[in-house]
Amino acid sequence: AGRVEFRDVHFAYEQNRSILKGVSFEVPAGKTVAIVGPSGAGKSTISRLLFRFYDVQKGAVLIDGQDVRDVTQESLRASIGMVPQDTVLFNDTVAYNIRYGRIDASDEDVRRAAGLAQIGPFIEGLPDGYRTMVGERGLKLSGGEKQRVAIARTILKSPPILILDEATSALDSHTEQEIQAALDLVSRGRTTIVIAHRLSTVISADEIIVLKDGSIAERGTHAALLKAG
Ligand code: ADP
Ligand code: ADP
Repeated sequence: AGRVEFRDVHFAYEQNRSILKGVSFEVPAGKTVAIVGPSGAGKSTISRLLFRFYDVQKGAVLIDGQDVRDVTQESLRASIGMVPQDTVLFNDTVAYNIRYGRIDASDEDVRRAAGLAQIGPFIEGLPDGYRTMVGERGLKLSGGEKQRVAIARTILKSPPILILDEATSALDSHTEQEIQAALDLVSRGRTTIVIAHRLSTVISADEIIVLKDGSIAERGTHAALLKAG
């Protein structure tokens, strides 16, 4: 489960300014598709349409063949996970931040998710452990640590569909590589849409879609796109 399809999607936030002009692609269940393109190309708009923050003006967005307009907001939120560029943590405990989205999860599950996201030992080393307050009024975490908390949250939530929206682009290159490894782990077996600026960060995607001026300019594997120049 978790097949995503954009079928001839047209979308504009404002009249007379088309952002997507007939975009069609499919992400088979469990596969990874990368959306690449310059800033302002409409990449994040694709994730907003999948969450149905906005409705398309023409065409359709479908999950497992069902139009998202026929899916409840609760169901959409349960089936889609998101790791954004800059995770903003709640002014609450680390445990709360990891549990968010799966509030019934046991302490053991929280620890397991933190372990897989490779932040467990760091949290356990804090004087208050998982009860440490984070966010604006709490402990300041680095960009990489915040991304790991977001990854632990996503591991715990375990959604069939995952959106990685420039999830490593705010990090230095060493941290970026470490976080990329953790993201590869979460996306395995999940339908994944990777939103990225540069082709070089999405080498392993099953398909790469290059978005320009609201249309798909190119598509193919990383190797094929490199060959095409
Ligand atoms: P990308 O993720 O590729 O950088 P976005 O999908 O965020 O691009 O945005 C595509 C275009 O839509 C940009 O020109 C942006 O300014 C515009 N845009 C984004 N959000 C809104 C909004 N809420 N209202 C009006 N225009 C918007
Ligand atoms: P959050 O502020 O953490 O996104 P919400 O209550 O708004 O919390 O959302 C619950 C779930 O819905 C999140 O775990 C996330 O998967 C998804 N979600 C919510 N807002 C967004 C957003 N702006 N972009 C992408 N995913 C979102």
